[in-house]
Amino acid sequence: MADIETIAAVATPPGLGGVGIVRVSGPLAPEIARAVTGALPSPRTATYRLFRDAENGFIDEGIALYFPCPGSFTGEDVLELQGHGGPVVMDLLLERCLALGARLARPGEFTERAFLNGKLDLVQAEAVADLIESSTALGVRLAGRTLQGDFSRRIQSLVEELVRLRVFIEAALDFPEEEIDFLADSSVAEDLDRAIVMTRQVLDEAHRGQVLREGLVVVIAGAPNVGKSSLLNALSDTDAAIVTPIPGTTRDVLRQDIQIDGLPIRVVDTAGLRETEDPVEREGVRRARRQLDDADLVLLVYDAQKGPDASLTEALPSGIPVVRIRNKIDLIDASPRIEQSESRTEISLSVATGQGLELLRTHLKVRAGLDFGNEGVFIARRRHLDALNRGLQRLLEAQRHLAGRLGPELVAEELLLAQTAFGEITGEVTSEDLLGRIFSSFCIGK
Ligand code: GDP
Ligand code: ZN
Repeated sequence: MADIETIAAVATPPGLGGVGIVRVSGPLAPEIARAVTGALPSPRTATYRLFRDAENGFIDEGIALYFPCPGSFTGEDVLELQGHGGPVVMDLLLERCLALGARLARPGEFTERAFLNGKLDLVQAEAVADLIESSTALGVRLAGRTLQGDFSRRIQSLVEELVRLRVFIEAALDFPEEEIDFLADSSVAEDLDRAIVMTRQVLDEAHRGQVLREGLVVVIAGAPNVGKSSLLNALSDTDAAIVTPIPGTTRDVLRQDIQIDGLPIRVVDTAGLRETEDPVEREGVRRARRQLDDADLVLLVYDAQKGPDASLTEALPSGIPVVRIRNKIDLIDASPRIEQSESRTEISLSVATGQGLELLRTHLKVRAGLDFGNEGVFIARRRHLDALNRGLQRLLEAQRHLAGRLGPELVAEELLLAQTAFGEITGEVTSEDLLGRIFSSFCIGK
């Protein structure tokens, strides 16, 4: 306990404000409270005090709040000095705390300590940042769900399921003389199937949460001159992309963050995907291909007069949903419409006249947003999806081992790997590196 440093920071935003708060966390907090405010305030009670400098001179008057460990936000002794929100006042107050032995907190360090002291798990800590950074009411609601533990509970029940299975399998391993043929026990296969279904469900919900947090990544692809840049402009109502009648004008990848009824969508216009000798354009094509790999959805645009380009369709990465955009219907006198079947979605429209664009907007909205009221959705990040995906792969591997009767050791090993992957999400399993990356993105005083 003795080697824990006491940290301090201004917790309110810089500039002028009615109230400004200096927050202190760590073993020196009570001593600092006594030195600055004259006496230790009663726990969790707003106490009016004068805040004094080392010569007993006036710094400010305000409210002192003391939260003893372990019931505080960080799990340590915490002092909050709520003074007047002026930058010099806050500086003087902070300087005083530092002179009394605290050091300046790093970004996110208060939340990091809350995590390290078991007050929050890692997804909840991340949700604190998401809540603060939310730019929409929906974002606040979803971050709130994660902060309240909705996501964590899903992961926990998944981990519990895996632990139960492993205990069973490892018990069988420990007593081979009992000849428990656990592989013949169909309940193992059933439990594993159930774990896989659960994982897929959580993955689906987390993916929606991630889309709502970061935006659905929609990549516009297609041959040169079919109307990709025009489509990006039409969707974003700007002239961000250069539209010209010369094939191969879009040499770089252009990105626009748009919103359809409050849903964030990140639209990427790619250079015409085609073989070319021009080195600049070739670089554009290379970037376009890379963007395609990160897409949630590809809009494959083609010219209604010419029909789809088969070689392009084949070049698309597998597994990413594609919506075909049959553009320039004004030139062939066709009507706007959407055709949807199991295997494909195609929208006939004209970017030039705007006919059919609404069909596309609605379709994107459905893809991105789904149902706002849906209880399952919580804020999630790419990091969580990666871990869920890795865990899912291990479970599928375990299923193969089980079906192939390759031995309980292998099944147990895969289950452990899956559990480890899931543990990374809540932070049961972490590396310094990961924590550093997560908390350094916070602002100071959080
Ligand atoms: P990109 O190379 O695929 O990005 O194509 P552009 O967006 O630069 O468009 C190429 C040309 O097609 C431009 O002259 C556009 O004005 C034209 N264009 C785009 N959409 C339509 C459309 O729906 N109808 C007609 N008639 N022309 C279009
Ligand atoms: Zn273009």
